[in-house]
Amino acid sequence: MNIHEYQARELFEKFGVATTRGAVASTPDEAVAVAQGLGTKEFVVKAQIHAGGRGKGTFQNGFKGGVHITDSVEKVRELAGQMLGQVLVTHQTGPEGKLVSKVLIAEPATIAKELYFAILLDRASGAPVIIASTEGGVDIEHVAEHTPEKIFREPIHPTLGLQAFQTRKIAKALGLTGKQITAASKLFSAMFKLFLARDCSQIEVNPLVITKTGELLALDAKFNFDDNALYRQPEILALRDKSEEDPREVAASEFSLNYIGLDGNIACLVNGAGLAMATMDIIQHAGGKPANFLDVGGGASKDQVTAAFKIILSDPNVQGILVNIFGGIMDCNIIATGILAAAKETALSIPLVVRLEGNNVEAGKKTLAESGLAVISANDLDDAAKKIVAAVKKAA
Ligand code: GDP
Ligand code: MN
Repeated sequence: MNIHEYQARELFEKFGVATTRGAVASTPDEAVAVAQGLGTKEFVVKAQIHAGGRGKGTFQNGFKGGVHITDSVEKVRELAGQMLGQVLVTHQTGPEGKLVSKVLIAEPATIAKELYFAILLDRASGAPVIIASTEGGVDIEHVAEHTPEKIFREPIHPTLGLQAFQTRKIAKALGLTGKQITAASKLFSAMFKLFLARDCSQIEVNPLVITKTGELLALDAKFNFDDNALYRQPEILALRDKSEEDPREVAASEFSLNYIGLDGNIACLVNGAGLAMATMDIIQHAGGKPANFLDVGGGASKDQVTAAFKIILSDPNVQGILVNIFGGIMDCNIIATGILAAAKETALSIPLVVRLEGNNVEAGKKTLAESGLAVISANDLDDAAKKIVAAVKKAA
């Protein structure tokens, strides 16, 4: 799960990570009120979306940039008016962009140097790792590709945590000296505490800045939380903004289905993540393109199967469905009944290939055969993939 920058700043404040003062607004009037409340000479107005690259982004109405600095409250009103309700496209949003419904108004920092700082979960070592660079503010992927020597990695021991010598080492690698090393150590420690306490999988601060007066401040923040830990993070879960997520994935999560939307045209409904991966591979192997990853789990109910079908069919790119069930815990007849209910409710009109195997398979096959539904049945995975690819080609 991701959160907005304004929410990230609230977490920063709570954990003592230094950042600039600011608040969020949903209307130009609110933006003006926030600006007046700040009482500063200048203001930075920042579009709030779950994506980076806002500064260099362009709105679909042609307005350039999702991050602006201005010196008048009236300009704040104007900028908020240009951004709110508009779609911002950045290199991270994809061409469809993201709708801006909130803007952050903050006191601008005077920047002497922009740095990069992130804490990630390193799957290779199974522990957190700090990534830092003197080349902040810019695209870090670009730095990694062209000047990898400017990226510094510090692995963190999983139980000892971030040690004082490490925070100093990172600060020095970033070229900090004197009092800044102390300030940086404090900031890194606070950030690491936050990372652990809130079950983050990523905190990326780009830029972390040194101001002209020598202060160290986090000016931007991208968070990622471990979805599997959200049950024990009610405070984080409350920050979820469903309008930023793929609506298909939101619907799936409501029915505890594991769904990831892809851009092909053959939908698959499978039980088990491994089988789902194999099904996607074999669709591709047969010359098709999967429209999604969908794992209904080991003990799906009829309602879940119906919900899964509806989610699949709400995707306009879907031209055919492959159901691949290996009934271990799963009763094949439940899947069959779910398919029937869903096909009725959605007036299914695209090819459907079903491969059922395992627990109570005969009953499942019988249910489908007697339904009068135009189901193409398949004997094995290979057969199923070939049949759905052929059926979609024929229908097109
Ligand atoms: P992003 O483009 O989505 O990553 O948004 P950022 O929050 O990183 O802002 C983009 C750029 O705007 C930063 O790299 C800075 O150069 C600039 N910027 C953001 N906030 C401030 C600020 O408070 N003061 C100044 N001077 N520049 C800022
Ligand atoms: Mn940034």
